[in-house]
Amino acid sequence: MNVIEDRIKITKVKKSKIENVNWNTLGFGKVFSDHIFVVDYINGQWEEGKIIPYSDMAFEPTMCTLHYGQTIFEGLKAYLDINGDVNIFRPDRNAKRLNNSATRLVMPEYPEEKFLEAINDLVAVEKDWIPKERGQALYLRPVMFGSSNFLGVHSSDNYKLVIICSPVASYYAAGLKPVSILVSHEYVRAVRGGLGMAKTAANYAASLLAGKEAKAKGFDQVLWLDGVHQEYVDEVGAMNIMFVIGDELVTPTLDQGSILPGVTRETVLALAKEKGIKTSERRIRISEVYDAHERGELKEVFGTGTAAIISPVGKLNYKGKEIVINNNEIGPVAHDMYETIVGIQRGELEDTHGWIHKVASI
Ligand SMILES: *Cc1c(COP(=O)(O)O)cnc(C)c1O
Repeated sequence: MNVIEDRIKITKVKKSKIENVNWNTLGFGKVFSDHIFVVDYINGQWEEGKIIPYSDMAFEPTMCTLHYGQTIFEGLKAYLDINGDVNIFRPDRNAKRLNNSATRLVMPEYPEEKFLEAINDLVAVEKDWIPKERGQALYLRPVMFGSSNFLGVHSSDNYKLVIICSPVASYYAAGLKPVSILVSHEYVRAVRGGLGMAKTAANYAASLLAGKEAKAKGFDQVLWLDGVHQEYVDEVGAMNIMFVIGDELVTPTLDQGSILPGVTRETVLALAKEKGIKTSERRIRISEVYDAHERGELKEVFGTGTAAIISPVGKLNYKGKEIVINNNEIGPVAHDMYETIVGIQRGELEDTHGWIHKVASI
């Protein structure tokens, strides 16, 4: 059996950049590792993927994604666990979601097993780039885009899928600090029938101005309401949103198609059910959130997403009316969820769900 020949071809850098990295100032998405994975879709099929040095990419000014926005991406993390193993959290969910996004944007699917192999082998090559502290990780960013050169509105013939690695700091250098959030009643991010359920660059483009204005007013992020009624809560833009109302964990239902189906959201819902917490996926009006607060029943609000895992919300401001949640402190449900998920990712808690993909060395 000749396994070696089936593996992804690897071209290594002559000299690693790793010695130049300051591990104390990583932040998020600023430092990139030595290698990337690249694969092209040409003449109706995917070519063989390869791992090559991180470098410039050449493109023509007419590359269609620059004009028509056929770009989708993913985000997942590799962790060094307490036994020295390398764990990737639920990469199969990202493989599926990449293909769901691809279908929505008329792009070709990439076979799931190929995606998982690419992730595995790239992380195996970049093992030394995984930061070691609890809460730190190697962030993996797959991005797929139309790479044909033309003007004219139709989908691309050719595509490129690239996977980038970035060592990232813990989101919470100073503990799980709650964020303050402006509820946008002026702009919308996504509408029913639009692109909200796809992880596509366009949704971020749509969100930037509101984000900038919120920052200028002193808020960390924007909470989006639905684009049809501007009444129901959608999500935070890079995070899904959850509320603890009374003894129930409530989060907006995905069935309107305007919300990105987060892997962390799905994980928190599964864990909450196991822990005996009542959960409800339904439409939730912003007025209901405020009413619950008035009655003293709004116990916690938190965002969920791969980057921060759990991000407690300390303040909400809707049309100038500000409410403070749980004294601007992280609540017990958010804290328990954070510790459980990090515990599983770090190998401190048993992975009873098969959520951890252990990176096989190559
Ligand atoms: C990526 C993303 C999320 C979070 O998804 P996770 O899989 O939990 O990281 C939420 N909302 C939007 C708009 C996103 O792009």
